[in-house]
Amino acid sequence: MSAFLFDEHHAAFRQSVHRFSQDKLAAGYLERARSTAFFWDVYRLLGEHGLLGLGVSEANGGQGADLIAVGIACEEVARADFNVAFAMFNSAIAGGMLERNLQPALRAEWLPGLISGELLTGLALTEPDSGSDAQAMRTRATKVDGGWLLNGEKTSASLAAHAHGLIVFAKSSPERTSREVTAFFVPLDAPGVTRRPFDDTGFRPIGRAAVSFEDTFVSDKHLMGEIGRGFPMVLGEFDYTRALLGLLTIGTAMTAIDLTVEYAKKREAFGQPIAKFEGVTFPLAEHATYIEGVRWLCHHTLALRQAGLPHTKEAAMIKWWGPRTAVQAIHDCIVLHGHVAYSEDLPLQQMLRDVSGLEIGDGTPQIQKLIVAREIFGREYLPYSRA
Ligand SMILES: Cc1cc2nc3c(=O)[nH]c(=O)nc-3n(C[C@H](O)[C@H](O)[C@H](O)COP(=O)(O)OP(=O)(O)OC[C@H]3O[C@@H](n4cnc5c(N)ncnc54)[C@H](O)[C@@H]3O)c2cc1C
Repeated sequence: MSAFLFDEHHAAFRQSVHRFSQDKLAAGYLERARSTAFFWDVYRLLGEHGLLGLGVSEANGGQGADLIAVGIACEEVARADFNVAFAMFNSAIAGGMLERNLQPALRAEWLPGLISGELLTGLALTEPDSGSDAQAMRTRATKVDGGWLLNGEKTSASLAAHAHGLIVFAKSSPERTSREVTAFFVPLDAPGVTRRPFDDTGFRPIGRAAVSFEDTFVSDKHLMGEIGRGFPMVLGEFDYTRALLGLLTIGTAMTAIDLTVEYAKKREAFGQPIAKFEGVTFPLAEHATYIEGVRWLCHHTLALRQAGLPHTKEAAMIKWWGPRTAVQAIHDCIVLHGHVAYSEDLPLQQMLRDVSGLEIGDGTPQIQKLIVAREIFGREYLPYSRA
């Protein structure tokens, strides 16, 4: 706890989310994580506790939480259930994006359901032939009378298997060489939409899916923000999502460490608790140190964003370092448990699989290091820049 960042409201909020997560979520993590069904009952419970409206202002029925509080919620819920925390994280991001970019009538149609946990949305940028190089997307939006026709395929969109709506990015200029990208909010019951869920190794209830659009009509009121401003919109969100995803991954890793500390105190070898051996305690001491470092970088980044200060570099640092730190910590926790952790009876293997998805999702380590390097060296030293 630090007086310099967290005030007494943050401390009280952390305590209440911690209590809720441990009482209502922790025990059901493994069962939910193994299923491909979405946890609607738990999701509605989050809504009842005000945890799905964190990214929406009070004027529009949300909590209007500050960014530090959103980070605290991500960390605390992830300590109990990584996947539930991801869905909550998504609601904070989607709620904010829809509130800022949708026209009032559509906002009124969607925001109450998102906040109560009746409706779910996702974001679709990635395509089969373009992930890191998102500008190379092929999905097209063609202007027609009263709206737009969408054609193309998105892939790997989190929650898309269960979602009611999707924020879709598409090329919107008739010129085929144009880089103009526009965002649309697409109800997934629109004609011409097909979904194919992935059989994921972790992240299972989240329902990552490919979604294709064949002459899918959306009206002009489904335009998000201005025509051609889709890319700055999504890049600005990444600087926020990366700080929250860092907290999600290390929140889960902290629980793995807690479990391992307890186990090491009880498990005996050579006549002593294994917690007496430095070979057991030092790796945990090191992981706890790295995790604390990531944790403060996340909150620092959220504080910079809250203050309107630049934070792209810090967000990219988190996105490569946080998931990797969490994966390595959980991996060592498995080894320190011995054979009992090589089984699905304990949650550690599941935690590893769940967290490792975020090494890739929202941008790979390589792309994050390119961003950090760009911020340090200057844009002219990017591999694609011409001298
Ligand atoms: C769990 C999960 C959730 C996801 N959720 C979403 C979502 O909700 N919405 C969405 O739109 N997408 C989502 N994604 C997709 C994700 O954003 C992409 O997978 C990611 O951006 C990488 O794209 P790619 O898989 O096409 O890999 P590619 O871009 O094909 O990259 C392949 C490899 O090449 C490396 N590489 C590429 N370019 C360079 C370069 N210039 N220098 C060095 N290395 C490079 C990459 O780092 C990677 O290791 C999700 C992915 C996962 C795993």
